Amino acid sequence: MRKNIVAGNWKMNTTVAEGVELAKAVAAGSSEVPSSVELIIAPPFTHLVPVAEVVGGTRIGLSAQNCADKEKGAYTGEVSADMLVSAGCKYTILGHSERRQYYGETDATLVDKVKLAISKGLSPIFCVGENLDEREAGRHFDVVSEQIKNVLYTLSADEMAKVIIAYEPVWAIGTGKTATAAQAQEIHACIRKVVADKFGALAEEITILYGGSCKPGNAKELFACPDIDGGLIGGAALKAEDFIAIALSF
Ligand code: PEP
Repeated sequence: MRKNIVAGNWKMNTTVAEGVELAKAVAAGSSEVPSSVELIIAPPFTHLVPVAEVVGGTRIGLSAQNCADKEKGAYTGEVSADMLVSAGCKYTILGHSERRQYYGETDATLVDKVKLAISKGLSPIFCVGENLDEREAGRHFDVVSEQIKNVLYTLSADEMAKVIIAYEPVWAIGTGKTATAAQAQEIHACIRKVVADKFGALAEEITILYGGSCKPGNAKELFACPDIDGGLIGGAALKAEDFIAIALSF
């Protein structure tokens, strides 16, 4: 059975103390959310250990926002999958459009990151999505299909079973513009079909999240779509009550 998940990507926001308070508020609100909905938060690296203490023993899963493509060694400034696991992470976001756009992350690097993360026991939240030019040129299905093929087609079925996909149209991230439920559903269905072309029935089990200006006011309509299994939430994840309200939208 595929899971319903609401994951909060805090990006480069909050101090450690603010992050701990936010995590406490999310943990307090989580009792309202049905147990069928999985909750994940992805604070910055510096916050992981103290936030792990807050969410340890709760139902909230801890995620990083990125992880290194190398196992260990002389890679100054990088954080490895082993380090994330030792800090309490079960997940890591990989291939977020901000990493692709501002830090030159490519599909080739992402193959290494995804495989390494899975080999260390992390579930990647693997992000795909087209930019505005690609959407306006009607290339969004092709762009997203290529991202999936270039990275996820290199995985075995056992590895693929660990992956959560997040469809995040770049033009909708942090812009206040949301894909309509119909736009999101048609591309989520396409993503599931692309996964099925390689992995068969496993595609039905894969959780596919929508991300891009998802908020309490639009989450219900999005989550009602048959191929949208939840959300990757940016801005609205910085307010515990909005994050919880989104999680209550199934
Ligand atoms: C994100 O970047 O993962 C995201 C979905 O951001 P926002 O919700 O702020 O658009």
